[in-house]
Amino acid sequence: MWYDNIDKMETKRENIIIIGGGPTGLSAAVYNARAFLEPLVIAGSPPGGQLTLTSDVENYPGFESILGPELVEKYRKHAEKFGTRFVNENVASVDFSDQNNLKVKLNNGVEYYARSILIATGASAQWLGLESETRLRGRGVSACATCDGFFFKDKVVAVVGGGDTAMEEALTLTKFASKVYLIHRKDSFRASQIMQKRVLAHEKIVVLWDTEVIEVLGEDKVSGLKLKFNSDKSKDKVKGDELEVQGFFLAIGHKPSTDFLQGHVDLDKKGYVMTYARLAEDFLRGNVELSNEKREYLKGGLDKHYSYSTSVLGVFAAGDCVDHIYRQAGTAVGMGIAAALEVERYLGEKEG
Ligand code: NAP
Repeated sequence: MWYDNIDKMETKRENIIIIGGGPTGLSAAVYNARAFLEPLVIAGSPPGGQLTLTSDVENYPGFESILGPELVEKYRKHAEKFGTRFVNENVASVDFSDQNNLKVKLNNGVEYYARSILIATGASAQWLGLESETRLRGRGVSACATCDGFFFKDKVVAVVGGGDTAMEEALTLTKFASKVYLIHRKDSFRASQIMQKRVLAHEKIVVLWDTEVIEVLGEDKVSGLKLKFNSDKSKDKVKGDELEVQGFFLAIGHKPSTDFLQGHVDLDKKGYVMTYARLAEDFLRGNVELSNEKREYLKGGLDKHYSYSTSVLGVFAAGDCVDHIYRQAGTAVGMGIAAALEVERYLGEKEG
C-alpha cells in the first residue's frame, strides 16, 4: 500500500496524529479524514487494540454478532477510504513542550511533528504479579481465552477474576475445555447480572469463592495452581490446597497504556489520562482537591467545550486510556468521535 512508504517520507508537520489503532483512534480518523485533516494514525504493533483479542461482539449496535478483529478491520478500511494514513509502530516518547510542534517519536526512531494529538492508546490486561505466572506465560498462562482457548481442548482450566471479562473468558473456555474453574477472591461477583447468570448456570463451570491463587505450578508448562482459601465456602470443591489444571487465564482488569505520557500530561493514580471532563467529574464527586489556579484552568477548558483536552492544549485523549468505567467498543467509538470533532474545532480556532 502507498502508506507503507510513509516512514521514508520527509518529516512534515501533521494536522493531527492519532496515537492508537483501536475503535477510538479509528473512529476519530474517519471524522478527521472526512474533514480533510489527513490524519496520521500510529496504530501500534501489532495494531488493532483490545478488540483484536475478542471473539464474538454481540453488543455493538447495528451488528447482532461480529468478530472483534473483523470490526477493527471495518473501522480501518473506513478510515483508509477517506485518506487516513497508518504506521504500525509503537510510540517510544513524546515531547509536548512546543505547542505548535508536538513531537512523537516511534520505537523505530522516526519522529513526527503535529499541530494536535489524540491519545487513544487504550488499556491492556493486568497480571497477578507472581514469578511463576510470568515464567509460565505462553506455556499455559494466558490473558486471552479467545486467542488461546483452542489449545485447551478437553483439558481442565481456571480463570481468575469476578468482573465481566472473567465471565466472558470462562464462557469462551467452555467451548474447548472439559471443566472451567472460576476463581474469585470475594464471595460475590461484580460482573453484570446477565453474565453472572450464564456462568452460574453453566454445567462446565465450577466457581471457587473467597479463593486466591498464590502460585502457578509446573516446570515447563502449567500443571496446577496453589490456592489460599479466605473462607470455607469452596474448600470442599478442591482436594487440599492444590488444583490440577493445564491452563490458567487472567481476567483481573486492565492497565491504561500511558507509560510514555508520564510527566507530559496529567494522569490519575492508575495512569488514566485526565481530560477536562474527567477532572470536572472527579472534582464534583469530591475525589480531587483543586487549587484556585486549577479551577480557573478547568473552567477555561470547559468554556471552550474541550471536554477531551488533556492538561496540554492541543493534546486530546479519549477511549479506554481515559475511561476507567465503561470500556466498551461503543463508548470508545463515541468518545473518539467527540474528541475528533474537538480536534477539528481546535485547529479551526487556532488557524482563525
Ligand atoms: P473489572 O470489572 O475491574 O474486574 C476485575 C476483577 O478482577 C474484579 O472482580 C477484581 O476483584 C478482580 N481482581 C483485580 N485484581 C485482582 C487480583 N490481584 N487478584 C485477584 N482478583 C483480582 O475488570 P473487567 O472484568 O476487565 O471489566 C472492565 C470493564 O469492562 C467493566 O466495566 C466491565 O463491565 C466491562 N466489560 C464489559 C463486557 C461486556 O459487556 N460484554 C465484557 C468485558 C468487560 P474484586 O471484585 O474483588 O475487586
